[in-house]
Amino acid sequence: MDKQDGQDKKKENSLSSLSIHVKILYPDRPMTLLDFDKQHIWHPYTSIKNPLPVYEVESASGVHLHLADGRVLIDGMSSWWATIHGYNHPVLNQAISDQLSRMSHVMFGGITHAPAITLAQDLIRITPEPLTKIFLADSGSVAVEVAIKMAMQYWQAKKQPAKSRLLTVRGGYHGDTFGAMAVCDPENGMHHLFQDLMPRHLFAEHISCGFYDVWQEECLDSFKGLISQHKSEIAAVILEPIVQGAGGMRFYHPEYLKQVRELCNQHNILLILDEIATGFGRTGQLFGSNHAGISADIMCVGKALTGGTMTLAATLATDDVAGTISAGEPGVFMHGPTFMANPLACSVAHASIKLLLESPWQERVQTIEARLKQLLSPCADLSGVADVRVLGAIGVVEMQSAVDVAVVQQKFVDRGVWIRPFGKLIYIMPPYIISPPELTRLAEVMVEVIGELTE
Ligand SMILES: *Cc1c(COP(=O)(O)O)cnc(C)c1O
Repeated sequence: MDKQDGQDKKKENSLSSLSIHVKILYPDRPMTLLDFDKQHIWHPYTSIKNPLPVYEVESASGVHLHLADGRVLIDGMSSWWATIHGYNHPVLNQAISDQLSRMSHVMFGGITHAPAITLAQDLIRITPEPLTKIFLADSGSVAVEVAIKMAMQYWQAKKQPAKSRLLTVRGGYHGDTFGAMAVCDPENGMHHLFQDLMPRHLFAEHISCGFYDVWQEECLDSFKGLISQHKSEIAAVILEPIVQGAGGMRFYHPEYLKQVRELCNQHNILLILDEIATGFGRTGQLFGSNHAGISADIMCVGKALTGGTMTLAATLATDDVAGTISAGEPGVFMHGPTFMANPLACSVAHASIKLLLESPWQERVQTIEARLKQLLSPCADLSGVADVRVLGAIGVVEMQSAVDVAVVQQKFVDRGVWIRPFGKLIYIMPPYIISPPELTRLAEVMVEVIGELTE
């Protein structure tokens, strides 16, 4: 079968099987793929009745998304922090196809394999020293659930079951599952919907001291107050280090993190660091916690772990956490997803970490940071803009009020870039391999569109 044949066959298969379904559901009218999508498929945080427009991407390579209608967009999102090396990277593709020819998956109960072991070695090597035990989960939210469960099992094993609450700060985001949701920002998160179904955790006030601000001791008052008042019932503190992502894209002072570590030690409380967004260089350091020179008792990674190719996350723990859990009742850690340590995902994660560490990633991220500071600065003078901030390969323009996502996104697509705003935030976090002209274009379009919004 030559290539052309293969392509025709592929087309025929997908389209004909789809049209059969479409005929059953809609006997009287023809329907396009996008119409079908609109009628039947949920996208993240959308309504089925009143969906936001979507764009069909046919392929992607480097920093470019190729739309089905022939347009090509420069990607400003790295598919939500993940695609740090760009799309369709030959090294990552090779890792997946090499592993594919051996096995795509095998259960992890009673079985192990080289991809999982190799990846565990990588993660233990590159994360702060006390983290030596690893649980391979299948998504970020699950890694957070695992981290929370570890903290709870830890105190149960220590026969201190009263220590069962979590302390965090407002403005955080840790995922969409129930355990994770309960520590997301109580205002912009989902608390009001599920209040009675979720555990009541403790929330310190927003961190007022920004990354570049002069440190102010009062910034920690609310956190300090809560931890000393509730220490006997707190199992763990959970935080995103340095950058709060989907909860508001705020960059906070490393001193906050340093003192949180000390307070946790002082009050006998575990520290969970959620590095799912900050991990793998995005903030200019390999991990967000490196800015403060501290390490967690339990740490989550995800998103860029596989270079944006497959879903995988991990929860790392210290010897003390892992050993205590294993010494207590019931003597095992109670978690085990079906697709735990998926070999394809582990192989590509190993390849991605290697690719990152062998690249001049820090220089690239620093260059992006310096360029974005310069290129986005004109936004600060526009009316309607509340703040402009840049850290590592993250550029954020916070508006005074929420933007109309569909309208703004359309403006970006019309100008050849992919930027997805949410709420008041218009932000970019491009793949590290973005070229100077492409980065300039991204930022220029951002300034131009924001200018239009505030006219
Ligand atoms: C995205 C994210 C999660 C959730 O990860 P999923 O893979 O979407 O489940 C958790 N924590 C942080 C900090 C994140 O950015």
